[in-house]
Order: sequence, then structure tokens, then C-alpha cells
Amino acid sequence: MRDYYEILGMERSASQEQIKKAYRKLALQYHPDRNPGDTAAEDKFKEAAQAYEVLSDPAKRQRYDQFGHAGVQGGASGGQAGFHDINDIFSAFSDIFGSGGSIFDDMFGGRSGGRGRQQGRPGNDLRIKLPLTLEEIAEGVEKKIKVRKSIECETCDGRGAEDPEKGFESCGTCQGVGEVRQVSRSVFGQFVNVQPCPSCRGEGRILRTPCESCAGEGRQKGEETINITVPAGVLEGHYLTLRGAGNAGQRGGSSGDLRVEIEERRHDEFTREGLDVYHELYISFPDATLGTEVEVPTLKGRARLQIDAGIQSGKILRMRERGLPDIESGRKGDQMVRVHVWTPTGLTDEEMEILEKWKEASSFEPDPDSLGDRKGFFSRVKDVFS
Ligand SMILES: [Zn+2]
Ligand SMILES: [Zn+2]
Repeated sequence: MRDYYEILGMERSASQEQIKKAYRKLALQYHPDRNPGDTAAEDKFKEAAQAYEVLSDPAKRQRYDQFGHAGVQGGASGGQAGFHDINDIFSAFSDIFGSGGSIFDDMFGGRSGGRGRQQGRPGNDLRIKLPLTLEEIAEGVEKKIKVRKSIECETCDGRGAEDPEKGFESCGTCQGVGEVRQVSRSVFGQFVNVQPCPSCRGEGRILRTPCESCAGEGRQKGEETINITVPAGVLEGHYLTLRGAGNAGQRGGSSGDLRVEIEERRHDEFTREGLDVYHELYISFPDATLGTEVEVPTLKGRARLQIDAGIQSGKILRMRERGLPDIESGRKGDQMVRVHVWTPTGLTDEEMEILEKWKEASSFEPDPDSLGDRKGFFSRVKDVFS
């Protein structure tokens, strides 16, 4: 463990005032609000707080000077037993930052609350379903959707009072800090129990003249148009999270998130199997026998396919890379065209007569052995876009 004087950059002879100044400087420099996600800074912040906690207390400082870290750690000497996290550290030192945390307001861009204070309650997350066609999934799509949700009150800009100066008064219970502290001592040290102030529910202020439009909530029912960019290849059940696009928070509290869940619309022409799409193609018996050219739908318009003479019902024609892209690699699936030979019903007498005539012809006899392996039912074809 580093020497506490060294941490604060002080001589052993430093005055209480110098120590306070040095700590304030370090605390501002390494404050987590200024160094989001920087754990090294957070460690430095905690280290400085620990050093200050000891050196600012004349009795502890004396013990530390005499016995070093052993003099102030654990046991009856107190130390850091009361600290649980950054917020606790902060509230323990709120004396040097002023009760309203005004230094931090100035330093960090005018948050409307001290460290201990909470803004109004955060807004709830929202979930919506976004139905997409296979065509939209194939290409990716930009969607504009209207979401009904709570939005910031326009009259008071979410503050809860039209005139924030006169609308609020500082909470008397917590002196505007938003927290109440209970300090208890035991043989294991000093425990600091910090809880949100029950009178103002942690806000540090009491609303006296609520905005009439929102009754002081700072939010109202409304609607927002949201743009959503959906990448190509999404699957049913995938979701996108739009941070802060959910319900507005109460009186300046943070907004919830909007979770957009992808839903795949049923398609009239295709069913999806992973990256592949299947299309069922019905052709007439004469066309199957004589061969023909047909037009089939694809996800990108219509295409023409050659049907060879003698094609069997059940045969699958594979149109390469006419399926859906993989969302990560972009690799494309295929379109499968499953051929069904249509059996006619409701024939005229004349048509029946013709068929009767050929009924016994040997070439009409099914001969599945001639097809060989079932793999013969798959064949790769070249399509031509019309
Ligand atoms: Zn309002
Ligand atoms: Zn209060």
C-alpha cells in the first residue's frame, strides 16, 4: 500500500488545509464522471479518498504518523470499513464539496444535483415488434416507426415546474443532499449507512409549484417517430436496442431503452429455411412432359427458369445465391424451387377420351427405378432475370 502522504503529494509537515486542497485536486482529476470506464482513474480516486480519510482526521493522522498503515487499519481504528463504493466515498467527503455538490455541477456541465442526489426516477424500457417482409430482410431496411410513449413535457422541458427557480425548494430533511447518513461505531470500526432521503426521495428538493401540463412529472403521453436501421439477414426473434429511446424519465430522470424485436411476416411465395427460401412451383402435365420455360418470383424481382422435358414432380431446382444473406458473413443462401406436376380435375368429355386412349400406353407407366438416387431430385439451375 502506498504512503498516504505520497498519494496526496504532501510532505509530512503539511497543514490540514494543504491536505484538503491536495485531495480536492486529485478527486476532481480522477472523478469517475470525468473518467468513465477508466478503472485506473477509479482506483486513484479511491486511493486518494482513503488517504484523505486518514490524514484529515488529526487523531488518525497521528496514529498513522506513528504506526503507519497498521495504525489506522482494521480493528478499533476505523479506516475504510464504511466505504462500499464510489458514492459512499463521495458522501463521506461531501463537506469539502459543499452540501449541494456545486463544484461538480460547475465542473461537469451543470447536472441538476449533487453527487448524492438522484434525478427523478428513470423511464421504463419499451418493447415493440417490427414485422418485416423477406424482401426487407434480404436487403436490410430503414424503418420509420411511430412509438407511443411518455415524452418530456414540452411546457416545462421535463423539469416538472415551469419556473424551476420558484417551483422547487431545497429539502429540509437532507439539506438538499438527497441522502441521509447514519454513522455507527463498533469495535470493528465506523460504519456509514447512506440512504436516499425519505422526504424528497433522493432528489434533494421538494416540488412546490408543479407544472400544470404534467402535474410535476416532467413527462407526458406522446408519440415519437423513430428511425431504425435493420441490417440484412436478421432472424425472427433478433432484437435491436435503442438506448434512451424508451419512456422519458420522471423530472429529468434518464430515459429507458427501446427494444425492437424482429418479426418475420408470412410470405405468399416463399418459406424460409435458414438462409434458403423455398418456392413451390406448379406446372402442367404437358409442360412437365414436353419441357417449358417458366417465370418464378425471387426476392429481387421475377426470373425465368428452363424446365427440362420429362421433369418429375418433387424435383428441386436450386437457384444459387438467390436466398438470404447471413447477418454476419453476408454469405448468401439459395432459392429452392420445388416442382409439382399438377393433376388436372374436371376434364371435358373430349379430354377424358384422349386420356382413356393413352391410359394403357407403356410410356405412361411410372418407373421410379429409372430415377436412381433420390439426390437426383436436386438440381442446380441457371436462372435468367426477366
Ligand atoms: Zn411539465
Ligand atoms: Zn431530502
